Amino acid sequence: MTLLAVKDLTKTYGSHTAVKHVSFELTKGKCIALLGPNGAGKTTILRMLAGLLAPSTGSITFSGYKPNQDIRKEIGYLPQYPAFHSWMTGREFLIYSGQLHSLSKKEALEKADLLLKKTGIYEARHKRIHTYSGGMKQRLGIAQAIIHQPKLLMLDEPVSSLDPIGRRDVLTLMEELKENMTILFSTHILSDADEISDELLLLKQGHLLESGPINDLRKKYQTAMIELQFTGDIALY
Ligand code: ATP
Repeated sequence: MTLLAVKDLTKTYGSHTAVKHVSFELTKGKCIALLGPNGAGKTTILRMLAGLLAPSTGSITFSGYKPNQDIRKEIGYLPQYPAFHSWMTGREFLIYSGQLHSLSKKEALEKADLLLKKTGIYEARHKRIHTYSGGMKQRLGIAQAIIHQPKLLMLDEPVSSLDPIGRRDVLTLMEELKENMTILFSTHILSDADEISDELLLLKQGHLLESGPINDLRKKYQTAMIELQFTGDIALY
């Protein structure tokens, strides 16, 4: 079942077209990787889907919603460089975030503790965020992004800046979360996509080159993957 359909999406910044006539559908309950090299247009697509950036042309339709209806409450979005109030503790930050999503103080408190446990940072709940490792910050960011129980979680390069332990922790968390929600995440590393995604959107210079189940694409487009590897467009490690 389709959760979200994107049709003929284009985004132009001045004279530069960052996203060019991109169409795809997100299947409900799947983990989808938006894979592409730097400047491919990944962030631009995610920001348009999150309602933070207006498309130049094209449409984004969330199942059950009319075009132009506000879909933001169905979406959780973690930007590539999230902004935390780093003087707060992890718990304070999540309670504050819950209240911004109109939860009562009691609800926000319960939700914060639940998510701190789910994301594996409960032990550090009373520590200030500036003392957290990169991986812990990402897990806190994910907790914040799902505090309002969105149907779609979008993560912009969630593991690109992390050391191997942080990367492993975040990928494991994503594996667990994908049981209950649709996840769309961007990466320029094929092995991250390969490891946890069910479907792949392969983007280059604003064009969607390929899309579909990762197993099919791996077999069918092995040559394309190898070409990309040779041109150094996508890191394979
Ligand atoms: P990265 O992996 O480096 O984050 P990306 O795939 O997320 O790259 P985008 O950030 O979406 O790519 O950028 C796509 C193109 O659009 C790039 O050429 C970028 O320079 C350009 N671009 C992005 N935002 C703007 C902006 N606000 N104004 C002008 N050009 C922009």
